[in-house]
Amino acid sequence: MADLEIHQFPCLADNYGVLIHDPGSGATASIDAPETYPIERALEDKGWTLTHILTTHHHADHTGGNLDLKEATGCTIIGPAGEAAKIPGIDVEVREGDTFRFGGFDVTVIETPGHTLGHIAYVIPQARVAFVGDTLFALGCGRIFEGTPEMMHASLQKLASLPAETAIYCGHEYTQSNARFALTIEPESAALRKRAEEIAALRAAGRPTLPTTIAAELATNPFLRAHVPAIQQHLAMSGAPTWQVFAEIRERKNRA
Ligand code: ZN
Ligand code: FE
Repeated sequence: MADLEIHQFPCLADNYGVLIHDPGSGATASIDAPETYPIERALEDKGWTLTHILTTHHHADHTGGNLDLKEATGCTIIGPAGEAAKIPGIDVEVREGDTFRFGGFDVTVIETPGHTLGHIAYVIPQARVAFVGDTLFALGCGRIFEGTPEMMHASLQKLASLPAETAIYCGHEYTQSNARFALTIEPESAALRKRAEEIAALRAAGRPTLPTTIAAELATNPFLRAHVPAIQQHLAMSGAPTWQVFAEIRERKNRA
């Protein structure tokens, strides 16, 4: 079977648009729809015809293009059952464990509440890729707007348990500021310092830092490392429940 093709491009101030395309069937999905025009441009550039929008959560910077794109293309909008009433134009509601067909690929839904209560991620195991919206970022995680720290921690743990080589596409390019913050949590980490330098070089060259991988995040993302003794010690929380350490890191990030 032909590989899944993935095209990532900037939208709005710091969002990413992502198109996925199955060359076998011609199926093409936009992961979220931050705004209409850049997505239409990207479709045109690639010569792809939009068949689906896969919505991760209801925020306007992820759904702003839904209605215009649906009107222009007749695409099917798939989104989280948990917040379906807030997803413009939604056709198909999906929930934890659901699998649906996208061209020749199976897409699995994982519920990842915390940023919003209905937030979901889409995983395509055959392509070793996941689209995680505003739950996990490179070196960061989403703000907890609707859920609790415990809930967000559990959602991140679900993503952390995906195969290490899984490519992770996120909603935003926040990596460089996340790196600055991560260094305040784990200043002694050589792996983190090296990654922060690589990120600075990419951004200086105007290049994206995404996608990332689960392996890279497990090694350097403080929000996936609340169990690490050096971090617990640094926060004076040695032996505390992991979710509480996570909550403290999230709290510090809110104030950073
Ligand atoms: Zn959001
Ligand atoms: Fe967002």
